Amino acid sequence: MFAAKPPVAHPARALPLSGTVIGIDPGHNGRNWSAPSFINHLVWNGRALEPCDTTGTATNAGYSEAQFNWNVASYLTADLKADGAKVVLTRHNNTSVGPCINTRSRIIDRAHANVAIDIHADGGPVSGRGFAILEPVTDPINARVVGASDRFARVLRSSFASGTGMPVSNYDGVNGLQPRNDLAGLNLTTVPKVLIECGNMRNPTDAAMLVTASFQRKAAAAMAAAIIKFLHRR
Ligand SMILES: [Zn+2]
Repeated sequence: MFAAKPPVAHPARALPLSGTVIGIDPGHNGRNWSAPSFINHLVWNGRALEPCDTTGTATNAGYSEAQFNWNVASYLTADLKADGAKVVLTRHNNTSVGPCINTRSRIIDRAHANVAIDIHADGGPVSGRGFAILEPVTDPINARVVGASDRFARVLRSSFASGTGMPVSNYDGVNGLQPRNDLAGLNLTTVPKVLIECGNMRNPTDAAMLVTASFQRKAAAAMAAAIIKFLHRR
């Protein structure tokens, strides 16, 4: 006779991200503008000194990037938890200052996340449209995760383009991918990680999409789908 299939020990194991840790870094913070001396102090980004953070950009109507990043991160957190993941966030509201970019990277490194995403929107040229995914360039700290980060970048590009309707950038990177060696979040990472600029807040067409809850939910869903796809192909 055939051996019976062993019973499922925990029904939760059926969730696609059960047992995983996912890092989410919502760029900037809602009150960074109020603490210039803290935000401008220099920190080591793995290759050079650079300011702790910036205020981020905004649409012409004044909708802040920090708010956009926080909203998408909140939707993504809910999606990932529903899929069984443990989520590690680098900040917990949009009404504070910091933390600095090097601290954000360390929070995710120390959590030993299986994969992580830095969420941003760009302040590009007014005629520039679309999203770009920034990925790490090998340095001593991130060397072991550059290949996996590139694989995640490609999965995310496909998921984000089809899930949100945002085109790939026509001014940043090549087909939506841009290696960068000047960002703490990528230089200091010891887990597979990319930074996504979800669109250009200075472009009227992109901005009209970015400020809607509908787009923000779709962006989060596209990120969650990419994370599941990436982790299930390891
Ligand atoms: Zn940003």
